[in-house]
Amino acid sequence: MMKELRVKTSSRVELLDITHLVEKAISEAKIKFGLCTVYVPHTTAAVTINENADPSVRRDIITELNKVIPFDDNYSHMEGNAAAHIKSSIIGSSETLLLDGGSLVLGTWQGIFFCEFDGPRTRKVIVKLIEG
Ligand code: ZN
Repeated sequence: MMKELRVKTSSRVELLDITHLVEKAISEAKIKFGLCTVYVPHTTAAVTINENADPSVRRDIITELNKVIPFDDNYSHMEGNAAAHIKSSIIGSSETLLLDGGSLVLGTWQGIFFCEFDGPRTRKVIVKLIEG
């Protein structure tokens, strides 16, 4: 089973909690056990798993990424979004999660975040479930 989700971001750089969207796709697929890959088919976005309880964690990740990879730094890429491409590669385009009894195996404080690095835009997220 493979499902394409749409997410709408509202800032240039943003970590958007998409855990509930992935869980909805799993419940619709009626697959209880296996692997769930969340894949972002974009070169200026990414996906990561981190704390979803305290929003300051998200803010700190964004602040530090923006410090390490500034928006302007004499980049060769002339499209104006070189920093977004670099952040995308550092964070990565997919996460694979475990599915047990119809639920994602996540720690108490873990959530799945779509990482927007060149927004705001409407983006795709692919969810692939492998039963087993
Ligand atoms: Zn570009």
